[in-house]
Amino acid sequence: MSSDKMNIWILVNHRQGTVEKETYGLAAEAQRLLTMSKQNSEEYCSDGKITAVALGAGLDAELKQLGAYGINSVVYAEGQELARYNGELFAEVLLKLYEKYKPACILMDHNTETSDLAPRLASLMNTSIVTRVIDFTISINREIAATRPVSSGYLFEKFKLERTSCPVITLLPNVLNETEAAENRNIEIINEKIDPGTFNLKTKVTEIMEAAPEDLEIDEAEIVISGGRGVGKEESLDIITRLAKSLKGSVGGTRPIIDWQLLPFERQIGQTGKVISPRLLFACGISGANEYTTGMEKSRLVVAINTDPGARIFKFADLSVIGDVHEVLPRVIEKIEERGIWNL
Ligand SMILES: Cc1cc2nc3c(=O)[nH]c(=O)nc-3n(C[C@H](O)[C@H](O)[C@H](O)COP(=O)(O)OP(=O)(O)OC[C@H]3O[C@@H](n4cnc5c(N)ncnc54)[C@H](O)[C@@H]3O)c2cc1C
Repeated sequence: MSSDKMNIWILVNHRQGTVEKETYGLAAEAQRLLTMSKQNSEEYCSDGKITAVALGAGLDAELKQLGAYGINSVVYAEGQELARYNGELFAEVLLKLYEKYKPACILMDHNTETSDLAPRLASLMNTSIVTRVIDFTISINREIAATRPVSSGYLFEKFKLERTSCPVITLLPNVLNETEAAENRNIEIINEKIDPGTFNLKTKVTEIMEAAPEDLEIDEAEIVISGGRGVGKEESLDIITRLAKSLKGSVGGTRPIIDWQLLPFERQIGQTGKVISPRLLFACGISGANEYTTGMEKSRLVVAINTDPGARIFKFADLSVIGDVHEVLPRVIEKIEERGIWNL
């Protein structure tokens, strides 16, 4: 890495003016990296620090809260043009900030935006990148080694990032532990005024379209209907899709559903899929293997339907229905269509 002072950057994930919990998980990971680095080579890291970098508008009050999560300072590029994500613009802004502050590495949580942003940025910085990381360590000579799942989670790949540049690393949200806020400390917020007009941008966002609820990403939807092997391959998830339509929810599945190609991989919930925390989750014909529940245990209200009264999924359910999905769900759909979900 280029900088002798271990200044770790984390990218602030925010939505509708609120900092998302993944940011706190990143702060904890950055803290872990600093501690490890300090143990490995005291002389480099006595003044290591964590900087949160935010791009957006109207975030001042939220950013002041970051002191409670061990973050030392915030670099805030504010502007109406940055209120909505634009990959090319965000990458250019981050490059400019990187050139000014020269951090040692940049951490982001892996999501739809950062899977676009991280490679753009790494390519502008001409540096190394690893995405979807589940673990990383730092060695005595400050090389970072990162691990990520491949082949749908059956294999793990290990990478070594040379210390010659500032690597960009995206971490899967399910390894970002929720952290408790400590007492808030005053943190320095450095406002960076950046004029997007100075960049020779080749792309322009011309329109933002709302997605239909059933097309929403499962980690963004308020209501998710998930199906497992118990729904049956032949039935092709029809009943799940019908329930999703009547509830205006998104559709997800367990690994067997993805392996059967009934849903694309980005709709897999779990350890090697996505971590979701919707307001309402239906788990239909799902046993509740640890690899699945890791991805849904933060859901607010869970309704599980399973023929086996001993199924593990019931430990996570607020409402447990012992029965066949193909008998239970048509009746649920009928009632919802009659009376609406909240009047059942
Ligand atoms: C490294 C690794 C990573 C993995 N990552 C993931 C991951 O990210 N996500 C994931 O989901 N899995 C993952 N898995 C797989 C995981 O271990 C389980 O095999 C998987 O979650 C099981 O899916 P399931 O519940 O759909 O199927 P099953 O475990 O087969 O359960 C089916 C359930 O349906 C019930 N059932 C059957 N018929 C009916 C019916 N008519 N009505 C109601 N209920 C019925 C049964 O009683 C049973 O409980 C991973 C595995 C490994 C090794």
